[in-house]
Amino acid sequence: MLDALRHRVPQWLRRTRAHASNFAWARQWQAVRAAATPWMKQEYEAARARLRGAPRPGVVIDRDALDRWVRNAAPPGVPFEAVVLPGGELRARFPDGPMERRSQHLLGKLRMTHRAIPSESVLVIALFSDVAADYFIETMGADVASGVNGAYGDGTALSDAASSIPVVLKEIATAAGLGTIGKNALFFSRRFGFNCKLSAVFLGAPVSRYDATPKNTDWKLPDCATCNLCVEACPVGAFDDYVIKKVESCDRLIASDYFGPRRDHMCRACITRCPVSNDVLKLRRREGAPQRAFWDNEAQLSLVADLFMYRPSFWVWMLQRFYYGADMPGRSSDRKKGFAEALSSSVSTATSDRTRDGWRLLAKKQR
Ligand code: SF4
Ligand code: SF4
Repeated sequence: MLDALRHRVPQWLRRTRAHASNFAWARQWQAVRAAATPWMKQEYEAARARLRGAPRPGVVIDRDALDRWVRNAAPPGVPFEAVVLPGGELRARFPDGPMERRSQHLLGKLRMTHRAIPSESVLVIALFSDVAADYFIETMGADVASGVNGAYGDGTALSDAASSIPVVLKEIATAAGLGTIGKNALFFSRRFGFNCKLSAVFLGAPVSRYDATPKNTDWKLPDCATCNLCVEACPVGAFDDYVIKKVESCDRLIASDYFGPRRDHMCRACITRCPVSNDVLKLRRREGAPQRAFWDNEAQLSLVADLFMYRPSFWVWMLQRFYYGADMPGRSSDRKKGFAEALSSSVSTATSDRTRDGWRLLAKKQR
């Protein structure tokens, strides 16, 4: 009895401490969001005004040219899907829902759902991606917008990332018919499963040819009706029943990966545990979708981006690499590396199939 207690008490204490710090973390961000509300409202209204200010009377955007700009903007060899819908038809899809949503992430941006987008036409892009990196899709949207603006005048097109238009991309893509929403509250692309990134380009003029407006009335991924794997896989119980419930807990976990020794192996269990999405991934790989490579890693890609933009996070990356080293999953990380070893391992760290299925789950199994 006493022996059992001696084993359990430290566990209970550890758990209580973890719950307490998680609670404090969540309350702290709630307070920050409350204080940031006026600022977020101002940003939201400014973005809507930018979208309303875009109309170009008399201009009709040529769809063939638009398709060409999209093709040219895509990373070479990476599959994507893009549709263009009239703004009015997009706004009318799934009408029973809010015009905007307040994010539970950090400062809590106010984001437009598809119902609130005042643009004449909207281009929505889903790009295949099996890494947690947004650089490619963000530059893709920006490149398409710059092609349109070059031909029809500045301000005709605004891309969500480059023009800081706060939108709920997964709702826009679902309304545009590119996919559905999974029980993990993520967007499930009909071509790429969860392995995709989204962008929207808002056009201030009609387009010469539109895609057919989808007619489906259910937005849930049908396979989720008989499955719960992703809910069970999330180490912090961040979501359930198609809704994110604890963004802060996921943020916290990811941040410990991002700034800790395992920046290349961010959790993503909600994606990598989904058998439906994994089947889709296998299909796309068989068709030639690129495998993960050295430069696909968040850490390496971020190094390149930051090097050229001289962002402070480059220095965070440098410090992190030298201070923590970059141990691979399964190796002991209780030893700090020397300079030479840290630098050489930082350039040779790549993500394998073994690690991409969630080092966290692998570690769990080994215990
Ligand atoms: S793991 Fe199961 S419940 Fe989760 S998204 Fe995939 S099919 Fe749906
Ligand atoms: S990334 Fe990990 S912690 Fe975050 S929601 Fe997905 S499974 Fe949960």
